[in-house]
Amino acid sequence: MLELRPNCEYCDKDLPPDAGDARICSYECTFCAECVERVLFNVCPNCGGGFVPRPIRPKTERRPGVGLGKQPASTERRHLKYDRPEIAEFVKAVRDTPPAER
Ligand SMILES: [Zn+2]
Ligand SMILES: [Zn+2]
Repeated sequence: MLELRPNCEYCDKDLPPDAGDARICSYECTFCAECVERVLFNVCPNCGGGFVPRPIRPKTERRPGVGLGKQPASTERRHLKYDRPEIAEFVKAVRDTPPAER
């Protein structure tokens, strides 16, 4: 099950479960759309993969046992372990290769 992480790993912006601007990589690394577009250029600094919009988990339990109330968002804030200059170098080396070819 997808872990709905509470913040952007780069700028620490809050990304609640209903945020329309949350982006995730295949490992669920989570960033805001602005960082993905303006800083990361669709390169995850943890794995080198690309991003997609994070789906919004429904608040309403329309099926028994399924919904945000039953599977709540994570509250564990995550932060990158790389510094910004290192990330910039990493992104620069990867960004011109399309995700399917990385
Ligand atoms: Zn951000
Ligand atoms: Zn990643």
